[in-house]
Amino acid sequence: MQTQGNPFRSEIENMIRAGDLNGLLRKAGELHGHLCNYLTFGVKAGYYGIKEMGVTNTGMEELLAIVETNNCFDDGIQIVTGCTLGNNSLIYRDYGKTAVTLIRRQDEKAIRLVLKPEFEDSREREYPEAYELFDRLIARREQGNPEDFHRLMELLARMSVEELGTPTEIMFRIEEVKIEVPSFAPILESVKCTRCGENVIKTKIIEKEGKPYCIHCAGGAAFELNGQGISQRAT
Ligand SMILES: [Zn+2]
Ligand SMILES: [Zn+2]
Repeated sequence: MQTQGNPFRSEIENMIRAGDLNGLLRKAGELHGHLCNYLTFGVKAGYYGIKEMGVTNTGMEELLAIVETNNCFDDGIQIVTGCTLGNNSLIYRDYGKTAVTLIRRQDEKAIRLVLKPEFEDSREREYPEAYELFDRLIARREQGNPEDFHRLMELLARMSVEELGTPTEIMFRIEEVKIEVPSFAPILESVKCTRCGENVIKTKIIEKEGKPYCIHCAGGAAFELNGQGISQRAT
């Protein structure tokens, strides 16, 4: 399904056409809440990928993005490519890698970009103050004074803008890949849980003595995507 541009994404599409990476980063900041270097990496990867694919994304699964970890990178991908969790075009694989594979469904063309380790390692040498503050205030959650936090956010924002100018090939290993294209998201009917009365997609129902229950009421364990990645937790 190819359309003449998508009115809902026209601002972003115009930025992509014009190569306006600063504009795309600004849009990414609206979603992400702050500017940081990994957000820029997502913007750069998304921009490269969507240019290669030449697809107008209407959020109907014509373009898919498979991300491999949950970090700031993913928000850059979502805003630039239009592949989101809500439109079922963002697929999450819990590998713990800053990487994305973009897939054009019509001909199964797929490109994977993964952050190069040598590039990632070099950032700490390039931006020692930001990394030191990040390690102290974010990674170790140490109590810092507000000026330190402000300084960190300022440095992250500066890095994010500067990294827009780093060539994509220096940041990422980029390759065409053969990949089994995920099928369209199924549309499934809902079933009412016997205990709480809430509607549940039928594949998530647990039957007990012939009656349907939601995972929560059945005392089952559900998968959860949180800061740790995907894990199973008891309800
Ligand atoms: Zn961030
Ligand atoms: Zn229930």
